[in-house]
Amino acid sequence: MSSLKSEHQALHVPPLEEVAAVLQTGLKKYFAEASVTVVQCPDLTKEPYSLGAAGLCGSPRLADVGGVPYLMPNIQRDKLYDVKTLAKMVDLPQSFVLGAGAGPHDYIGVNSELMADVVTGTKCRNGSYTAKINATNKCELQKLPDDQTRCALMLNMFASEGHGGKVLRVWAKKRTGDTNLVSCLRQTLEDHYGDKPVGLGGIFRLVEGSAKCHVMPDFSPVPLTCNDDVNKWLHFFDFPAPMVFMSTLVSKDPGMDLRTEHSHGYGKDYGGHYHFDTTPDNVEYEAYYNLAEYMYRIDRPNATHQVGRN
Ligand SMILES: [Zn+2]
Repeated sequence: MSSLKSEHQALHVPPLEEVAAVLQTGLKKYFAEASVTVVQCPDLTKEPYSLGAAGLCGSPRLADVGGVPYLMPNIQRDKLYDVKTLAKMVDLPQSFVLGAGAGPHDYIGVNSELMADVVTGTKCRNGSYTAKINATNKCELQKLPDDQTRCALMLNMFASEGHGGKVLRVWAKKRTGDTNLVSCLRQTLEDHYGDKPVGLGGIFRLVEGSAKCHVMPDFSPVPLTCNDDVNKWLHFFDFPAPMVFMSTLVSKDPGMDLRTEHSHGYGKDYGGHYHFDTTPDNVEYEAYYNLAEYMYRIDRPNATHQVGRN
């Protein structure tokens, strides 16, 4: 694993209060009601989050590991990563990692979506879930055990020391635009900060409404070469609230071949990759994000493409 190539860049880190003001103004273009404030992070180990560490603070950083080119056009089954190793590679061996990626197919038995929630280091704890398509074509949620901290193909992760502290609270209700929550946040940051990349990581909750999500079935027997192929291969669902999503975004790709938005989440017994809510009139979101200081790019594919990045 240590032979994986890695590069990193510092991200632009404006004051939290400034980002809150920028995001609040931007979100009001897309939602009837919206507020973005700087607050003390709620204890994320408590309900309704039940995650591995209390907060999103202390050396916050993002990493984009692998990528869709390892899934398509042709699957590369040997692309397996361990979050514990990835934490070391982002120079934070004792960290709280949240993220969206693909589950360890050799353990699950098939390809799957991963909702990563891992505390690495001496107090290792794994609260991650996977969502797969089972033999009856249904979505099946599965909790991973503490000793199964691997993922496959790709992972967009946010790592921090997991401490409490000041974070952004995003609240939005009744969508009036045609863009999903994460794209609203990302686009607003790009509009304001231009070429300076600003990165966020954290969680959002779908409090009311429902969301269109996909779950990857097992690997395609034929190469997937365009978005049409991908959309026919994926299984799409309309999942009801409440759901918790692990979420990362970066306003602009500073030439690192990044996936600029990626969010995976789960509800009671279902989960998957977030596309958008399907209930604009009664949707409600609550999110907590922190600004990332660095972006790491690990095991960047040599041959890249833009298929399947939505
Ligand atoms: Zn995904």
